[in-house]
Amino acid sequence: MTPPVPGVEWLMSAYDATWHAFPTAQVSDQTRAFYQALCDHSIPVRHVERAAPRVLCAACLVLYGAQIPDDQRWQMGG
Ligand SMILES: [Zn+2]
Repeated sequence: MTPPVPGVEWLMSAYDATWHAFPTAQVSDQTRAFYQALCDHSIPVRHVERAAPRVLCAACLVLYGAQIPDDQRWQMGG
């Protein structure tokens, strides 16, 4: 499944058991010790967990939504 907007991955922070949006450029960078989410939540890479999102960070959601062009924004719900 391809996300509607490339460049963001939703990963769980073990700190708050919440899924934050992290730039794919960070997630794919093997040399990073920390990731920084769109909402400025930062977390050591070893405390990030990959699982199907259940609780999305509200701040990340707003910032993520703001990145989506208007002509794509409402297509996700069908
Ligand atoms: Zn967040």
